[in-house]
Amino acid sequence: MFIVSTMTTSLVDAKPVMSNHERIGALTRAVLNGEQISREDAQWCFALRDTADIFDLMAGANRIREHFKGNKIHLCSIVNAKAGSCSENCSFCAQSAFHQTGSPKYGFVDPEPVLEAADEANRNSVTAVGLVAAWRGLKEGPMLDEVCDRIRDLAKSGKTRPDASLGLIKSQNVADRLKEAGLECYGHNLESSRSFFPKHCTTHTFEDRLETIGYLKKAGIKICSGGIIGMGETHEDRLDLAMSLRDIGANVVPINILNPIKGTPLENVPPVPPMEILQTIACFRFILPRQEIMIAGGRTVNLRDMQSMVFTAGASALMVGNYLTTLNQSVEKDLQMLKDLGLDPDWESHGFTDQQ
Ligand code: SF4
Repeated sequence: MFIVSTMTTSLVDAKPVMSNHERIGALTRAVLNGEQISREDAQWCFALRDTADIFDLMAGANRIREHFKGNKIHLCSIVNAKAGSCSENCSFCAQSAFHQTGSPKYGFVDPEPVLEAADEANRNSVTAVGLVAAWRGLKEGPMLDEVCDRIRDLAKSGKTRPDASLGLIKSQNVADRLKEAGLECYGHNLESSRSFFPKHCTTHTFEDRLETIGYLKKAGIKICSGGIIGMGETHEDRLDLAMSLRDIGANVVPINILNPIKGTPLENVPPVPPMEILQTIACFRFILPRQEIMIAGGRTVNLRDMQSMVFTAGASALMVGNYLTTLNQSVEKDLQMLKDLGLDPDWESHGFTDQQ
């Protein structure tokens, strides 16, 4: 087991005497030795612009991933358990009732599709299936009973890790009930930095999200929390997001890349260039060395034939199968990509190692 050092390393004062290559090497060694990267050094990593430096940064992130995760890649999939007509106004989301997107709308999922998703996950060495619902949040009552039934079905099947992403939670009892039903991990992204959050959502707050995470952690449920890049945020916002995720102790950190949906306020936002996406992943790996960094929505459309480079940039997990409202490349193609890179799906540890 690794000893987590709370010591924070800062090489900011060394800048005048070190080349960028040397400084990235020194930061890599410090993180491998269990030290936390300082905010100043992380800021410096985000600010690198030279392609050769970004490749150096990725090489360092790759070594950190290999050191803490070996050649195991954690795979997750999702079932859209309730689609569309969401009361929240998240500006990136096709499922918000505020936007005219033509995205499908249906009520809570029956047991059969959930069990089919578990079977498919098992066949493809996918660690987890997450039930995802488009609504503000989960309250006590018949809907919570139904959600718990589906989680129990998934847990009983023994074919996958039961996960869920069901919006805001406003009481400890709801989180405890989910845990009791067998839920292992809850997806609840912080989405962006605290200061950028009101620019993409005004129907709930960053603090609401932190409160939900607090109830889940108290219930003993693991936290899957990350964000979306490409909404118009600055590098400083991305750094703040990564630092917040370090502070809350997220176990899995999904990085989504905006895939602008027609009918949403972000439909005309220009895409993030692939090298900038890879640099962001590498910076997250330096800041969050032990976490599962998972590349989720927007991967195929934004990275195209550079998708396999997410692992050499430090990612250790992948969302496979289709996303909630957009398509992904096939699971078979993803598994072939891992095989070609000499990487293995992480089935045995269920994605959670003793390093987290
Ligand atoms: S991201 Fe979630 S909470 Fe926000 S509009 Fe979409 S479904 Fe609703």
